[in-house]
Amino acid sequence: MKAIQMVDLKSQYEDIKQEVDERIQGVLNTSSFINGPEVKRFQEELESYLQVKHVIPCANGTDALQVAMMALGLKPGDEVITTTFTFVATAEVIALLGLVPVLVDCDENTFLISENAVREAITPKTKAIIPVHLFGQCANMEEIMAIAEEHNLFVIEDAAQSIGSSFHFKDGRSQQSGTIGDFGCTSFFPSKNLGCYGDGGALFTNDDALAEKARMVVNHGMKVRYYHDEIGVNSRLDSIQAAVLSVKLQRLNDYGNARRAAAWHYDEAFKDLPEVITPERVRNSCHVFHQYTLRIVGLDRNALQKHMMDNGVPAMIYYPVPLHQQKAYRDERYEDGHFPVAEQLALEVLSLPMHTELDKQQLEKITNTLREYVIANR
Ligand SMILES: *Cc1c(COP(=O)(O)O)cnc(C)c1O
Repeated sequence: MKAIQMVDLKSQYEDIKQEVDERIQGVLNTSSFINGPEVKRFQEELESYLQVKHVIPCANGTDALQVAMMALGLKPGDEVITTTFTFVATAEVIALLGLVPVLVDCDENTFLISENAVREAITPKTKAIIPVHLFGQCANMEEIMAIAEEHNLFVIEDAAQSIGSSFHFKDGRSQQSGTIGDFGCTSFFPSKNLGCYGDGGALFTNDDALAEKARMVVNHGMKVRYYHDEIGVNSRLDSIQAAVLSVKLQRLNDYGNARRAAAWHYDEAFKDLPEVITPERVRNSCHVFHQYTLRIVGLDRNALQKHMMDNGVPAMIYYPVPLHQQKAYRDERYEDGHFPVAEQLALEVLSLPMHTELDKQQLEKITNTLREYVIANR
């Protein structure tokens, strides 16, 4: 049996090696490394996959979030609401721009931002909401868009973990995650569901004016070369990464199916263990399982993790500390205990290996190792 990894990028590459190598060689042959034809091609392929008017490629997912806030014209002092239970990038760029991160709690079953908490956090200074489609399923965009409309707020979807997932509205419409708000932002970090072989990211929008603005911001605030209308940044997706992404985008749905099959195997294996709570699926989103995250209750989660690691089964804690308890984001507004759900989740969550190359033998080893410990230690 192949060693089990949280993410197995090497086996995935071996499967698509010929095509990837040819496309990378093609970039080398033309030596059009920045803004080459591969970037344009991937941009159009992704627009068509997502059914969105504009994809603006950039250097990484963190930049995508920053560029979205700059393009929306948010100003220092503006409040931006997001969840305390997420990867730091979401709040980092809010703070970096001098905006005020307003954190809220999440739902204990889905790990997603709580819409009620968003509603309660709105003040006259609130300008935007950043729902995070955490672990691969969509936050309740129907509610969030309704709240935003009612209070005249922007919505920036953090779709770094959810590309390929879609949200189903009550009226029967479906939209890809990241294409519902004013902007959607994603990351092509290698371990993400659509990952390149370095750093990469993109913004999505259906608004022509916002797209034009974002294209300027990523390119030093210029439309006409060497004429700078705004303060911008330098954030580009390079051609080699775009070539890799173009190859992998064709397989994104198959990759999603492989992840869902692994998730289904996990669900089945832990059904009879009350100490192991499998991740709830929300009804109005499909799940692309960026992570498969359990809650371990009434048992020592850290000891279980160590048991798994000692037996050659990686398992990780996403995330061990909610943002409001991080040193850099500590704030007198948020004492310990302020966000009880996120604080509890930080003690309970355990993510299992999740990627496109897990075989039956590996899945059985993972589930058996976890089951052994739970049954022996109850
Ligand atoms: C990965 C990630 C980001 C940042 O993406 P980078 O490409 O690493 O900058 C932002 N938000 C979330 C939720 C992420 O998981």
